[in-house]
Amino acid sequence: MSDIKLTFYGAAENVTGSCTLVECGSTKLLIDYGLVQGTDNDNEENIRPLPFPVAELDAVILTHGHMDHTGRVPLLSGSGFKGRIITHAASAELAALIWYDSVRMHDFGVSLYDENAVNDTLALVQGIKYNQEIEVGDVKITMFDAGHILGSAHVLLNYNGKKIVFSGDIGVQRTPIIRDPFTQWDGNIHAVVIESTYGNRIHKSRMKTAEEFRGIVDSAIKEKGIIIIPAFAIGRTQELLYHLNYLVEAKKIKPLPVFVDSPMANRVTQIYKKYTDCYDGPTTAQILSGDLPLEFRGLNHVITASDSRSISKTIPPFIVIAGSGMCNGGRVIHHLQNHIDQDNTTIMFVGYQGKGTLGRRLIDGDKNILIGNKMCKVRASIATLNGFSAHADQNELIKWAKAIPGKSIRWFVNHGEKYAAQGLCDTLTKEGLGESVVVKKGMSVVL
Ligand SMILES: [Zn+2]
Repeated sequence: MSDIKLTFYGAAENVTGSCTLVECGSTKLLIDYGLVQGTDNDNEENIRPLPFPVAELDAVILTHGHMDHTGRVPLLSGSGFKGRIITHAASAELAALIWYDSVRMHDFGVSLYDENAVNDTLALVQGIKYNQEIEVGDVKITMFDAGHILGSAHVLLNYNGKKIVFSGDIGVQRTPIIRDPFTQWDGNIHAVVIESTYGNRIHKSRMKTAEEFRGIVDSAIKEKGIIIIPAFAIGRTQELLYHLNYLVEAKKIKPLPVFVDSPMANRVTQIYKKYTDCYDGPTTAQILSGDLPLEFRGLNHVITASDSRSISKTIPPFIVIAGSGMCNGGRVIHHLQNHIDQDNTTIMFVGYQGKGTLGRRLIDGDKNILIGNKMCKVRASIATLNGFSAHADQNELIKWAKAIPGKSIRWFVNHGEKYAAQGLCDTLTKEGLGESVVVKKGMSVVL
């Protein structure tokens, strides 16, 4: 049987900059090419060229649309890459949004690439469906639903009968709207590259989190309060809308104005509405019954900056969902400036807050805080809901892993901080699932 060589270039002992080179004879593939974020020298790392001729790549396969899996792809067009970029059709649309957005507002004020690079990149993109086998050179490629965000995929490569699975980011079971991660594999899988974001953690139940969410919204309504939710545009915002839709339409809460104050999130919601074939059973049934899961009384999609500023004139109670998710920029800044010193305000965090971000400082309890250019006193309540994660926890990762068929599977653990990756690696071994190793940056293996 023919050899497959893997070289791990990114998300090795961390969670950003996903990138793995796969060489199957003369066919060369890159799985993901994401942005490196949150390190001291990430800008340097992002512009450093890959240490092999990218013009020789036959294809880049993108597991899903998130920045840490797709953010560097437009850099390839300037380096002579002329191959195909293959991803699920919904991921292709999400990636395009992200790429154009990063042309305008790169974190450091300097974009890594210009609009022409994005246009050239999009000309190479081929959007495919789940469960559809395609061929690149000598390799057969199939994508299966990973249940993480809309369009997210596990990638199965088959090279002359030798099969390898790339998990991409693995979603959480019973996440609203989208289906659960795929587990109906057949055949004999030789190796798996598995993510480990929460490889050493167990999540709070999503049901409990949804109940906490209802409780906070209900109190805000009764106390005529304002809820500010810093949220990421892709996935999290749509899940919050799904929960609010349920609460309003099942009459669990009184309707109130809900502003999604993020042009990016609103565009993503449009893409979510378009790909109804990616929905899970309950959401599909809901649509067939005539109820649209991302639309309800009181919901406002805010587009212009002047409409965004006018939100503060609304008589409470109301909810504002605005980016950025960690409060290090975006429209959430002016909402915080306007309302953080009021004790009828609740700031609700629904996602991970990185070290050094304004979000983290608020969670840590800072009472005097610089927001944008304004020094503010914090009188608002701070709530954190950690159970809406888009990543499987250790129990679910192991459950997913156990569904992979194979006689002696080799496991390569990536996309997790050191302890998370090691935690999953040890558990895979303990469960008797096969030989397991945490990948290091630059490490190569031949299968
Ligand atoms: Zn992701």
